[in-house]
Amino acid sequence: MRAAILAVGTELLSTDRLDTNSLRLTSVLERHGVALRHKAVVGDEEAEIAAALAEAARRAELVLVSGGLGPTADDVTREACARWLGRPLEEDPALWAAIERRFASLGRTPAGNNRRQAMVVAGATVLHNPRGTAPGQRVEADGVTVFLFPGVPFELETLVELHLVPWLAERSGGRGRERRTVRVAMRPESDVDRELEPAYAEFGRETITVLSSPGEVKVRLTVEGAEEERLVRLDQMAGRVRELLGEAVYGEGEELVLEQVVGGLLAARGLTVATAESCTGGLLAERLTRVPGSSRYFPGGVVAYADAQKVSLLGVPAPELAEHGAVSEEVARALAEGVRRRLGTDFGLGVTGVAGPEGGSDEKPVGTVHVALAGPSGVRHRRLRLPGDRVRVRWQATQAALEMLRLALGEATPEGRP
Ligand code: AMP
Ligand code: MG
Repeated sequence: MRAAILAVGTELLSTDRLDTNSLRLTSVLERHGVALRHKAVVGDEEAEIAAALAEAARRAELVLVSGGLGPTADDVTREACARWLGRPLEEDPALWAAIERRFASLGRTPAGNNRRQAMVVAGATVLHNPRGTAPGQRVEADGVTVFLFPGVPFELETLVELHLVPWLAERSGGRGRERRTVRVAMRPESDVDRELEPAYAEFGRETITVLSSPGEVKVRLTVEGAEEERLVRLDQMAGRVRELLGEAVYGEGEELVLEQVVGGLLAARGLTVATAESCTGGLLAERLTRVPGSSRYFPGGVVAYADAQKVSLLGVPAPELAEHGAVSEEVARALAEGVRRRLGTDFGLGVTGVAGPEGGSDEKPVGTVHVALAGPSGVRHRRLRLPGDRVRVRWQATQAALEMLRLALGEATPEGRP
C-alpha cells in the first residue's frame, strides 16, 4: 500500500506555522510498513484542495488529510472532498446532536457555523473525536481510502490512535517497522560511526543510521517484520551498539535528554550538585531544573558573569583571575570548588568560556570552554574547542558539563559514594 499526505491550511504556506501533523502521520505509517510516496501542503481553497486530493489519489491508495475541518468559513476540506468525488455533503443528525451536547456541557449553545461540522461527505464513515467538535471522516472511493483529520495537533493524534492505527494494523498483518534511538553525548560523529562498523556488518548497513546534532549523536536502529521479531531484533541491536560504544551511551529513547539521565543518577544515589556558570549564563541550571523533581538533587546555582562576582560570590582567587584570565582551567576549577563549598553539595560544576561572536583571541579563540567538576574525590577538568555560533557553543558547554557529571556518577562505588 502506498500513502500520500495532504496538510491543509493557508497558515502552513506562510512562515507562521510549520506542518508538524504530517510528521506524526508519517511515523504511524512507518510503524505499519506503509510507504509514503507523496506529501503536499495546500491552502484553504476548495478548488486547490480538490485538485490536490485528485493528485494524491493518483499516486496512492491511502490519502491522509489534516486540517480544514473547523467551524469557520475558511475550513473547506469537507466541501473540497465532496467536490472532488462528485458527492453531496449531508448533515449527520447524530453528529449534530453530539455537538449540541458538547456545547451544553460547557454551558453554551452552538453557533450557526458549528452546523458545518455536522456535514459529512455522502458515504463517509464518521470518526468520533472525543477531544474536540470536529470529527474526522473516512471515505472510500475507487480503491482509494481517504482519511480527513482535524488540524489541531492533539486532536489529530487522538483520532489517529483511535481510527487510523487499528485500520492500518488490520491491513499490515502485524508486519511493520520499529525504531529505537540510542543516544551519545559529546562524541564526534565520525568516531561513533567507526566504532559501530562491526554492527553494520552484523545487522546490515541500512538498519543503523547515525544522526549528529550539536553535542549529541543519535544512533537510530530500524527493523522491519512481524511484531515479536521486531522487538527481539531491536533488543539485540541495541545491546550490540551499547557493547561497541561502551560508557559513551547515556540512554535510549527519542525524547530522552541528558539532564534527565544525570538527574536520575543523582537521585538514585542521594547525591547533589550545584552550578557556577559564566558563559552559559544559567543555561546549565535551567536544563537541570527542567526535570521534574530536580529539587531533590539541585539546590541551586550561581551565574557569575563578571570577574567581580566570580570573586565575591564564589571565592575565585583574584590573583588567579588576573594571571590566567576568566576563561582558564584555574578559574573553572575555582568556580566548581567555590560553588560546591558555598552550597554544601556533593558536586560542583563550573563553566567558563568564550561563546562569541566577539571576545576570542589567538590563545583563546571563540568556542574555547573550560568545564570543571569538583567532587568528593577531587576536581577534574576538560578544555574544549566547541564549533558553531554563540547558541551552539553555550548549548554544547552545558552538554559537556552534564556529560562530565554523568561519567563521574557512573564510576561511583557500589556503596553509591564516589
Ligand atoms: P484547522 O483544523 O485547519 O482549523 O486547524 C486547527 C489548528 O491546527 C490551527 O491552529 C492550525 O494552524 C493547526 N494546524 C493545522 N494543520 C496543521 C499541521 N499540519 N501541523 C500543525 N498544526 C496544524
Ligand atoms: Mg485551518
